[in-house]
Amino acid sequence: MIVLRRIQSANKFISRQFKIINEFKTGKFHTNSLLMQTDTKDVMNIEINGKTLQFPSVWLRDNCQCEQCFHQSAKSRIIDWSKFNLKVKPNNVSKDDNSLQVTWDDGHVSKYKLSWLKFRSFTPDDQEIYTNTLYKPAKVTWHGNDFSKVCSKHDYKEILNSDNALYNWLLQFSIYGVALIQNTPDSETALDSIVAKVGFNKKTHYGEKFVVQHVVNTSNVAYLSNNLQMHTDLPYYEYCPGVNLLHCLVQTLSKGGENLLSDCHYTVAYMKEKHPDEYKILTETEVEWSDVGCENGNEFFKLYRSPVICLDKQGEVIRINFSIPQRGAHFPGPIESVRPWYRAHSLFYELNKNFSAKFKTKAGDILVFDNIRLLHGRNMYEDKGNNVRKLIGAYVDWDEIYSRLRCLKVKLHSEDRI
Ligand SMILES: [Zn+2]
Repeated sequence: MIVLRRIQSANKFISRQFKIINEFKTGKFHTNSLLMQTDTKDVMNIEINGKTLQFPSVWLRDNCQCEQCFHQSAKSRIIDWSKFNLKVKPNNVSKDDNSLQVTWDDGHVSKYKLSWLKFRSFTPDDQEIYTNTLYKPAKVTWHGNDFSKVCSKHDYKEILNSDNALYNWLLQFSIYGVALIQNTPDSETALDSIVAKVGFNKKTHYGEKFVVQHVVNTSNVAYLSNNLQMHTDLPYYEYCPGVNLLHCLVQTLSKGGENLLSDCHYTVAYMKEKHPDEYKILTETEVEWSDVGCENGNEFFKLYRSPVICLDKQGEVIRINFSIPQRGAHFPGPIESVRPWYRAHSLFYELNKNFSAKFKTKAGDILVFDNIRLLHGRNMYEDKGNNVRKLIGAYVDWDEIYSRLRCLKVKLHSEDRI
């Protein structure tokens, strides 16, 4: 129920964003009131749409949008910082329905669109709108029982032919961390066209793309047919690929072969509340992830130290690292931290198994999932003579996903405030 309510409130939030965007587009956004200045002149109070918003003078001068200060085609600041005055003061300020004009004490004149300013307002509410509409859509966590509701389905051809379909896929995917593309042609290169719509893929020592198939004497346990324990891919990469795309060309006809997926953001929130000590250990204790071997004649020796749960300054999860096979034997912490860490690690693994969704992709499906948020695994299966399970995989970075999402947002929703 909690998950469902979260989904509903996220959907409400998205529709509110579109309403705001449309108000900008239709010019309903207006202002008619007086501009005020504080005594110190360090902060300007500007009334926009009936609300008084504050902007520091130094920030306004730094963000002057004129051709001398801001390169119009490079969309980049070109102010000479050695001449910048941190104590800059406005001499004269005027405002019409759409724009603000400031004449500074050195005579320079700056002009700003009010919609542009409003979008960059410093109030917590406006900052949240900016974050969720442009920076990154807010994530919604889920339990495996709700998987069918959160895993949106998309059509291969529609994504290739329609910006709206591409945008919708990337938006849903970034919110829930998982999505399914259906009706993909039966070709080892079909994945390339999807990747090209986003940008480009991330090459690793397993290649530009990789084939997941039962291989004897393999370089990676993913290429076996027994149970593949839940994990993230490539935790031993400092610049870890963010997104995993798996195109199912042939699914096994035997029992097994189901995918297991769990949202670690759900698991982490659960642990933080119910098992705070284990949560703390997994956020603080660095372990060493490793991959050593040879693929296509290229030797590799990857090592990277990081906790299982990586948090940002706000305490939000930014990356999960988890892989039983790809955790090295060297433990970088003090000896006393070893046993508590193993207990916390076991709890995290058990909880993810309990919270996971189980489902079987079919030929023509591309399963897309967030590799630094979800754990994924696969149940054991058995290949038969004329039925050999085969997947083609590729990685894409989140940088490319968010970049495409923002480009499409500007293109489809013509936001002049960006
Ligand atoms: Zn300027």
